[in-house]
Amino acid sequence: MKLSDDGDDGVNMVCRTVEEEDVIERYLAGRLSTNEAEAFEQHYLECQKCFADLQLQHATAIELTYRPVHSLHLHRKPWALSLQWAAATVAVLLLVAGVLYLRPHEKTQVPAQQIAAAQRPSAAVLEQLAAVDQIPSYIPGLIRGGETNPALIKFQEGMTLYSAGKYADALAPLKQAEGLDSLQSLPIPFYLGIAYLVSGDPQEAIAQFSKVPRENAYSEEAHWYLSKAYLKSRNFSSARTELQTVESLHGAHSAAAHDILQQIKNY
Ligand SMILES: [Zn+2]
Repeated sequence: MKLSDDGDDGVNMVCRTVEEEDVIERYLAGRLSTNEAEAFEQHYLECQKCFADLQLQHATAIELTYRPVHSLHLHRKPWALSLQWAAATVAVLLLVAGVLYLRPHEKTQVPAQQIAAAQRPSAAVLEQLAAVDQIPSYIPGLIRGGETNPALIKFQEGMTLYSAGKYADALAPLKQAEGLDSLQSLPIPFYLGIAYLVSGDPQEAIAQFSKVPRENAYSEEAHWYLSKAYLKSRNFSSARTELQTVESLHGAHSAAAHDILQQIKNY
């Protein structure tokens, strides 16, 4: 494979090479040689098109690398985790079945209270709907070159903490990175939003997710987590708007968005 231009320096990489030789895909998969990776990094730092493509493909990769939030500090085997999730799913289904089964009986006893209950979600149900049980992981080292870019240095500092599950600790460096990233070239609002959401600050999460541009590679994810932040804030009409957007985008969260919309339609 030839990653260099025809020039003598051997580190230039042209967009055409990136495209024709699936460089981004192989970069994200860690299948480039050190020299090739360095050549590509040098290229995308200067090339807006390739940087945008890299962000887009990284965001797509995010879909495939979700991890359950509770498993971060547990050292369980994947199958044990699957069983745990299966058990949790069964428990939820049983709970829903139980509620559906009990409802007609309760209705005949206390109709007024039952009507009120149908309009107001129980705290437990709401907590479940708003739960962030999967958080997007970050591929460390995706955006390198932090030696010279102060925003990138802070971003990487924050994302190292984020990747270690220290979301509250990641807030300060990510906020600093946001202030330094005047060109808004880094996906800071998205990850900062996640960090706020997981740290229990849905209002700040809403502010951050709202900054993710509509055409951004992270926008579908941003709408999804924005809906979670609105659910946590008991703002059902805004949650509905976000969930409808997610559903219409037919992405990874479309079915889940549809389910939640059905459950909150009377709230
Ligand atoms: Zn390029």
